Order: sequence, then C-alpha cells, then structure tokens
Amino acid sequence: MNKNFDNSVEGAQQLDQDDPLAFLRNEFEMTVTPNGDEEIYLVGNSLGLLPLAARDYMNAEINKWGRLGVRGHAETDHQPDHPWSTYHEIMNEQMASLVGAKPEEVVVMNGLTVNLHLMMVSFYRPNKQKYKILIEGHAFPTDHFAVESQIRHHGLSPAEALITVEPRPGEELIRAEDIAEQIEKHKEELALILLPGIQYYTGQVFPMSDIVELGHQAGAIVGLDLAHAIGNIPLNLHEWSADFAVWCNYKYMNSGPGAIAGCFVHERHLNRPDINRFEGWWGTNAETRFEMETVFDPIPTVDAWQLSNSSILSMVPIRASLNIFDLAGGILPLREKSEKQINYLDFLLAENLSEEIEVITPKALPERGCQFSLRITAQGKDGREVFHELEESGVSCDWRYPDVIRVAPVPLYNSFTDIFRFVEILKRILRPE
Ligand SMILES: *Cc1c(COP(=O)(O)O)cnc(C)c1O
Repeated sequence: MNKNFDNSVEGAQQLDQDDPLAFLRNEFEMTVTPNGDEEIYLVGNSLGLLPLAARDYMNAEINKWGRLGVRGHAETDHQPDHPWSTYHEIMNEQMASLVGAKPEEVVVMNGLTVNLHLMMVSFYRPNKQKYKILIEGHAFPTDHFAVESQIRHHGLSPAEALITVEPRPGEELIRAEDIAEQIEKHKEELALILLPGIQYYTGQVFPMSDIVELGHQAGAIVGLDLAHAIGNIPLNLHEWSADFAVWCNYKYMNSGPGAIAGCFVHERHLNRPDINRFEGWWGTNAETRFEMETVFDPIPTVDAWQLSNSSILSMVPIRASLNIFDLAGGILPLREKSEKQINYLDFLLAENLSEEIEVITPKALPERGCQFSLRITAQGKDGREVFHELEESGVSCDWRYPDVIRVAPVPLYNSFTDIFRFVEILKRILRPE
C-alpha cells in the first residue's frame, strides 16, 4: 500500500474525494464544541457517534409502546418492524458477520462485564488439577475484577490461581512468544485464558487465532474480550474456534452510552446438557415459555444464556448502527479504508512531529486497529496538558493514565481531513512558532 502521502490540506481533501466510503459520515451526527463548531471527533474508541437513524428507530418503538402497550411484545405496527419478544434476533446475522460467527453463536444481551461473568460461570470450572486463569497484567480493570472475583467465588485465591503476561521491562507491547511461554509453563494447571482482541491502552492486536490454538493444546478454555476489536478489525471467532467472547456495543459499534453488549459461544458448546449456566426465563424455549412451567428447556443457541426479556429501547441504536455497517459493505471495506487512514496518520506524525510524539501502538498493520496511543516526548510538555489543549482546540480524544493520549480515526465517520486538521492542531500545541 502506498505510504507516501501529500503533507497538505489539499492532499487530505483529495483523499476524501477518492474515498468510496466518505458518504457514510452523513449517517452520523457530528459532535459540536460549546461554540457550535463541529468537533474533530477521534474518540470513537470510547463512545461511537450517534447514527442519525437511531432517532427514528427510537421514536418508532416509543410510539409502538404508546399505541399498543403490552401487545407490542407480539405485534407490529410499522414497517420494518419486529415484535419485542424476538427483537434481539433481528440483529444476529449482522452482528455475527462482524465477529465472524454463525448467527446462532451470537446474542445481544446485558453489559460486557455481566456477560463475562456469565461466561465464566459456564467455562471456568476449576478443579484440583486445573484452576489457573491467564490474563494480561494490564488488563482493563473490569476484566481483572471479574476474574479475581470468580476465582474467590470458587474458594480459591488469586495469588495462586491468577497468572499474568506482561510486557518485558522497558517495553510497551506484549510479545506473542511470552504469551506462548506462560501457556506452556502453566499448562498442567491452566483452566482459562482470557485476553483482549485489542489492548485498550496500547492498541495492540493480540494474535487471537494462535492464542486459541495454544490454549486448546494446553487443555484450557479460551475467551476473548473484543471491546476494542469489534467494528474495528475483521474477526473470525468461529473459524479460530474461540470458546467464548464478549464485547460492548458503545465503542466502535456506535450504539450509545451503556449500550446492550454482545456475547459469543462457539457452536460446539451449544446444546450441551452438561453445561453449567446461570439461567433465566429468556433462555428457555420460547414456545413453552408462557406456559410457566418450571422445567428449563434451553434454546439450542447462545440464547440459552439470556436471563431477562430484552431491553428494547437500549437495543434500538444497535440496529441503526448495524445497518450502516451494511451500507459500508461490511468490515472488510472499512478495514481497507482504516489501513489507509492509519498509514496517513503515521505519515503525518513522522513528517511533522517525529521529535515531539512517540506512537506506542505497534507499527505493523496486522498488529493494530485504528487507535493510536501517543506519548508526548516534546521537551517541557506534559502529556495531560497537551490533552487538555487538544480538547480546548476542538479535538475530542482521551487521556489514559499514566501517560497516553488515545486518538482513533474511525473509518465510518472520520475523514482524512479530520486527521490532517488534528495533526495541524497538535503541531500548533507542540511547536508554537
Ligand atoms: C470498554 C471495556 C470494557 C467495558 O466494560 P462494561 O461492562 O461495558 O462497562 C470492558 N473491558 C474492556 C477491555 C474494555 O475496553
């Protein structure tokens, strides 16, 4: 791929003109500064923008509730429409295609951390021999808390049962060979490996397929946290044979603050009578659900893990967002644009700010998504101050303790001009003439 770009605003505008996916930006509402100017929104890694269609979709369900009341569970009153009782099912195919799964392997339910617990209830069954969980040392805190509390729930201590893989001293990224080494070293006791698809702080993509393979060779279950991976990079959960995966839908999935999350269970674990599960009425056969019997008849899909009836109003934006992914032609064309945007931002930073900025995200495309983790190396500049100056200059990005500014050009709605303007602003902050 061409990595030589033109370091000018005209160059950026030309890239936008040549971009076959540029029209997708019009499907989103761009945020504005307190002065009413459009922001340069580079924080889709934290909260994706509002799909404009979500407003209509939301109104349609609100109106349906108003007109039909309880009948809305079974009836429809507008097109395209779906009764609430099966509303979650209409998203399965689109969601499955984004994670590379079969529709029966994915479900939209709960929050990410809740799903993580539900998955560990089923897939972390420690015994005397196999009881250890491998995570990364700098895992997102909720993953760490969930894992430690599951270990304690089984009467074990994290000191014995929790093992971690870390970057080597003086390094930022985790080496694949160090993951392999930890798996090998603990294989007799290893029960579960839980790693992210993309590390939230550095933006590093983990070698998911290899991890699943090594984990399975060690007789361990492999679960993936895809919070920063879904909607960002292509995924292939079914083929990789991951045992389970969880994700949230408010980051690259643009489905609103605290959006209902997603969950994947591999086909081979569906319909297993021996599986341990925390169960609820939304996991039992829908045909007999309202006979109010007390025999649990699990749905033969991942829906068996559902507990409560679906939160319809919180699911609505997911639908609007998934339709935009369809307009894009799926994740592959988006990734193609994303790679070009990654190369472009790399080029602009190297060309303009090589002394002032260090990119800690891996350099190779297969090892990174759209997020850049930037460390400020400019003399006399404090990273946190720079972050505040960016915000005051109309750039939305985020700060992650201890010293990283994260920016994520999202191919669904960020233009090449956004990227160019961002670097111009950063230059003004770091190199005032
Ligand atoms: C964003 C994120 C979460 C968020 O968890 P919630 O349950 O949705 O609040 C969890 N894990 C990772 C790795 C994340 O990046």
